[in-house]
Amino acid sequence: MTLGTAVADIVDLFYPELCPACNRTIMKFEDRLCMDCLFELPFTDMHNIEDNMIEQRLWGKLDFEAATAMLYFKKGGRVQNALHQLKYHGHLDIGRKLGEMLADELLKCSRFDDVDVVVPVPLHPEKLSSRGYNQCDLIAEGMENKGYMVCLDALSRSLHNPSQTRKGIYKRWENVSGIFSLHNAAELKNKHVLLIDDVITSGATLEACAKALKRIPGIRVSIAAVACAE
Ligand SMILES: [Zn+2]
Repeated sequence: MTLGTAVADIVDLFYPELCPACNRTIMKFEDRLCMDCLFELPFTDMHNIEDNMIEQRLWGKLDFEAATAMLYFKKGGRVQNALHQLKYHGHLDIGRKLGEMLADELLKCSRFDDVDVVVPVPLHPEKLSSRGYNQCDLIAEGMENKGYMVCLDALSRSLHNPSQTRKGIYKRWENVSGIFSLHNAAELKNKHVLLIDDVITSGATLEACAKALKRIPGIRVSIAAVACAE
């Protein structure tokens, strides 16, 4: 045992790494999520299914090739805990881990096999400066670790929209339309873009992002999120 590993072991003893989904201590052989969570997470397995629940939710709202979400999100459940740690407690590595898991799922799936580039849904600059990072960028970084090409700055959010959580559906749609600006358009011409988000709710944000992307000639857009409500 070297001095470095001895020090690391002592640090682990007093400050063990905790699983962001269930709060148990992470063992040395585990990677950012405990084995129990890896087996118990509620995977949707909907990537290969045409007309899946997410696609039905987005029909008529945006023009897309395929859409999916990897996990079901339940109040107080492991997925909500992990995403909460990512968004509000600076647990950045869980974002990358979830991105790697999403990539593993999509790389097995023929409906997503010709994706050229991953584009994350952007955060408003004010939120970005208060949080310090965009959780969707970290998910994209995880996908990059698995070989996907990623363009982090293809879209930016141009207006502040107040918190959407207390608004009705109609207001939510009104709230996000036309707030995304496009960059690097030439690089995305004729490409199949995978637009990624942490959680799909109403789809209003994705619709506005897809509308901005669709101004690029020849572009095709697919959608993937880490989670969706059941
Ligand atoms: Zn766990």
